[in-house]
Amino acid sequence: MIPVTKPFLPPREEYDQYINGIWDRNWLTNNGPLVNELELRLKEYLGLNHLLFVSNGTIALQLAIKALDLKGEIITTPFSYVATTTSILWEGCKPVFVDILPDRLTINPDLIEAAITNNTSAILATHVYGIPCEVERIQEIADKHGLKVIYDGAHAFGVKVKGKSVFEYGDISTCSFHATKLFHTIEGGAVVTKDPELLKKMAYLRNFGHDGFERFNGIGINGKNSEFHAAMGLVVLNHVDNILERKKKQAEYYFEILSGLKVNYPKIDQIEQYNYAYFPILFSDEDQLKKSMKGLEDQGIGSRRYFFPGLNQLEFTQGNCPVSDEISKRVLCLPLYHTLTKEEQRMIARILLRVQNN
Ligand SMILES: *Cc1c(COP(=O)(O)O)cnc(C)c1O
Repeated sequence: MIPVTKPFLPPREEYDQYINGIWDRNWLTNNGPLVNELELRLKEYLGLNHLLFVSNGTIALQLAIKALDLKGEIITTPFSYVATTTSILWEGCKPVFVDILPDRLTINPDLIEAAITNNTSAILATHVYGIPCEVERIQEIADKHGLKVIYDGAHAFGVKVKGKSVFEYGDISTCSFHATKLFHTIEGGAVVTKDPELLKKMAYLRNFGHDGFERFNGIGINGKNSEFHAAMGLVVLNHVDNILERKKKQAEYYFEILSGLKVNYPKIDQIEQYNYAYFPILFSDEDQLKKSMKGLEDQGIGSRRYFFPGLNQLEFTQGNCPVSDEISKRVLCLPLYHTLTKEEQRMIARILLRVQNN
């Protein structure tokens, strides 16, 4: 059995050390010392001024929308995980889908202006597979029209644009630290902003709005995370350079052994620091994808249609996005995780080549 992904588990003793400390202190959650330590270490590692550790990447998006007080329409990408869209709807806003770039698969900035109306309040775009959006173009458009910008950076841990973490761009960036993501805290996520006022607001919102025991500052939610989750993050962070390095090598090996396969890849060659979070391949058509998926499945190998269907195609959404519709029909993510071996990768390549040549 080769799954499409496997969570990274550090050596047990490293986690146990932190857990012993939790037992000594008897402090399990509510902004404990390990949560603080993780926030500090993450800011240092990523080179960020402000970051809050929250319960998950979906709450992070909701906190961002709430903190910016967004109303009405939010321009967004159809090519992402469902939480990007549902967090907009959950906050009572309307997602307006703008199609993606055929090579990078991120939102197409050329199409954004035509989608702006009097009701537009923001742009919420995803650095899909860790591929950065055209952040400078998007900021120019947002500035021109007075819109806020949120980036769903759930896939983008460790990615840099112009010497800075990609999380530095936009009014707020979010990340997911779910077990299947590149860096994880089992469940978890973060909000990042350059604006100290926004940070303060999100810190209140994360903790029910509590301003002391008896006062409430805004309509908050429980977006906190626990000492146990922070402990996992602190341990995984010690291994993250290793994980990044390993994924890069594995991706490069895939490119090499799949060179005979008639598929395309999203364009990553101009990214100054990429993270190889996923390994998406684009088949010539959906039929080839289905046959390949079946071929892999028959040998006990997992693969996933990230992202299908497009988010404009859900029963509660609508939007005309021909590029995304077409790409989502023929994109498949292959297994990629730290313990995947070269031998397993060769087996995957052999199966895909056999299916293609049949
Ligand atoms: C995983 C993911 C999320 C949700 O994060 P959770 O931590 O699972 O809530 C949001 N957006 C994208 C693009 C994701 O991949």
